[in-house]
Amino acid sequence: MALIVQKYGGTSVGNPERIKNVARKVAKFQAQGHKVVVVVSAMSGETNRLIALTKEVATHPDARELDVVVSTGEQVTIGLLCMALHDIGVKAKSYTGGQVRILTDSAHTKARILNIDEAPIKKDLDEGNIVVVAGFQGVDEHGNITTLGRGGSDTTGVALAAALKADECQIYTDVDGVYTTDPRVVPEARKLDTITFEEMLELASLGSKVLQIRSVEFAGKYKVKLRVLSSFQEEGEGTLITVEEDQNMEQPVISGIAFTRDEAKLTVLGVPDKPGIAYQILGPVADANIDVDMIIQNIGHDGTTDFSFTIPRGELDKTVKVLETVRAHIGARAIEADKTMAKVSVVGVGMRSHPGVASKMFRTLAEEGINIQMISTSEIKISVVIEEKYLELAVRVLHKAFGLESA
Ligand code: ASP
Ligand code: MG
Repeated sequence: MALIVQKYGGTSVGNPERIKNVARKVAKFQAQGHKVVVVVSAMSGETNRLIALTKEVATHPDARELDVVVSTGEQVTIGLLCMALHDIGVKAKSYTGGQVRILTDSAHTKARILNIDEAPIKKDLDEGNIVVVAGFQGVDEHGNITTLGRGGSDTTGVALAAALKADECQIYTDVDGVYTTDPRVVPEARKLDTITFEEMLELASLGSKVLQIRSVEFAGKYKVKLRVLSSFQEEGEGTLITVEEDQNMEQPVISGIAFTRDEAKLTVLGVPDKPGIAYQILGPVADANIDVDMIIQNIGHDGTTDFSFTIPRGELDKTVKVLETVRAHIGARAIEADKTMAKVSVVGVGMRSHPGVASKMFRTLAEEGINIQMISTSEIKISVVIEEKYLELAVRVLHKAFGLESA
C-alpha cells in the first residue's frame, strides 16, 4: 500500500464530466489499496476569468483582495470532486488551503509555503477517506488567504507529498509526460521516461510549461518522487523526474530543447568602460521590475564598450524609456532595440562529461545560415538568442542533430 498525492490541473477538471472522470480514476487507485490525497486546480479558464473580474472593478486590485477572489476557483473544484466521489460511493473530504493550514508567508499572489499541518489529513486517510485539497492557496500567520502564483497547484501537490512523506507525487495534466521538445514544433519529439530534477528545472525556467518551476525546486529539495502523467489516458508511466544519482543508465548527452519566443534585445552603444556601469544600466531596469535575462558586455575599445541584454518583448517600450534616461546620465552614445528575438536552449546533464556540445550546436545553426546573436551557458545548458523567424527551424535541426527523435 502506498500513499500517493495526485494533482489534477485545470483541463483535467474542466467540466463536470471530467470531474466525474477524475473521481473514477482516484477511486480506482484507492480500490487498489492506496491512500490518496488529491490536489486540484480551478476549472480551466476560471482563474483567468476571476482575474479579469477584479480588473473590471479596480485599476490596481489590492493584492490581499485579489487572493480572496482568485482562490475561490479551487474551492469550487474540491467541493465538486468530493460530491462526485460520494456519488460513486467513496468517502471523501475537501479542504481549502486555510483549512489544512498550509501556512505561507504574506507575499500575496506569490506566497511561499512555510509549513503544512499534515495530522488532520493523515487521520482522514486512516479513516478511509480520499482527501481533496485546494491547490494554489494557503493562509498566512494572520489568517489572510494567500495564493502561490500561477500554476501554484503543482507546488501544493509537491509540498503535501513532502509533508506527508508520500511515496509519489503524480501530476496529472493534458500531456502524457515531458517531451524532448514541443511536439507542435517538432512532430518527432519523444516523451522522456525519466529526466533529472536539474534538467527539469532548466526546461521549466526556459519556457516548457509542464510544471510550475517552484514545484520542481521543492521536489528536488525534499526528494519527492515526482511524475508527470496524462489524466486522459488510462495507461502510461508518464515521465519520472529523478535525482541524477538514482540513475544507473547511460545518460543521453542532451535531454531536451527548450525555447521562448517574445524576447527583445537592447543594446546600449558607446558606454564608458569603467566600474559601476553595469549597475548603472541594470539598476534602474530592475527598479522598474523588468526581468532581464541574458547579458553581454563586449570588450572595450578606446574607453567605451557596448552593453546588451534581453528582456520579455512586452516590456520593450518601458525598458527603452528607462534606458533613455540612463543613456543621458552615463553619457552613452545610443540605444538599439531589436524586438523580434527568440531563445533556444539545449539542456542535458550529459554535457558535463561530454565536450563538444556547444560546437555541435553552433555548427548545426551555422549550416542553416542562422546567425547567433548572444550565447549563454550553464553547466547543463547552452542558450542562444536568434531572430525569431528562425526559431522553429533552429529547434528542428537541433533536435535532429542531437538525435533526440530516437531513444
Ligand atoms: N488555478 C491557478 C492557475 O490557473 C493555479 C493552478 O492551476 O495551478 O494558475
Ligand atoms: Mg498548471
